[in-house]
Amino acid sequence: MQNRFFFSSVIALLIVSIAFSIPASVLVFQGQGGGRLTFVVDAGHGGEDGGAVGTDGTLESEVNLAIALRLDQLLGLCGLSTVLTRDSAELIYPDSAVTTRERKRADLEYRISVVNRTDQAVLLSIHQNKYSSSGPRGAQVFYGKVEGSEAFAKTAQEKLAVLCGEHRKAAPISPDIYLMRESHCPAILVECGFLSNPEELVLLISEPYQTKLALAIAAACISQYNELENYYGKN
Ligand SMILES: [Zn+2]
Repeated sequence: MQNRFFFSSVIALLIVSIAFSIPASVLVFQGQGGGRLTFVVDAGHGGEDGGAVGTDGTLESEVNLAIALRLDQLLGLCGLSTVLTRDSAELIYPDSAVTTRERKRADLEYRISVVNRTDQAVLLSIHQNKYSSSGPRGAQVFYGKVEGSEAFAKTAQEKLAVLCGEHRKAAPISPDIYLMRESHCPAILVECGFLSNPEELVLLISEPYQTKLALAIAAACISQYNELENYYGKN
């Protein structure tokens, strides 16, 4: 069993290294437990909050979860620490939350508590985009206000551009996004693609493309690892 885990780890490291031109030595160093950061992987929405809906009825919350689970697994195989804010389709709330509004609010507060009680946390919030016309496509990364977030977002944007062939610009997140606003750590929100674009929708629900998206985001985590750790060295 241990051998299987070792070989899986080596394969994951090699794939990330080759696919995103990161020296294998950097990966191996972190794979040996050199780091202290914990990546909080957040699959946006869930339960009665499905998020955006694709033209075929696909729920954003399901695509987010599929990519988040892959990302969590991949980061783990690369030897990095992770925490998931949800690992099932459901929102997390107490019995006292009765209305949808109360449940969504309680779930968001739970997510914020997970982020803010995690030591040396880095938040990765996974979402899908939607637009009123079917034209726009491609991933876009948004960043929070905490130092280190912008550089991390730009790196993630570059890695995702390689995959999508669409060169969008990383941008600051709107202050309306509660989870990003209330998180006290470096944070990015990745809009992986547009559910409103029929060709991209087909990709976003396919397992191989979900894995590639997870690989691109994992590659950004590894590339920016030292810079993100420096943030905690200073603060
Ligand atoms: Zn969303």
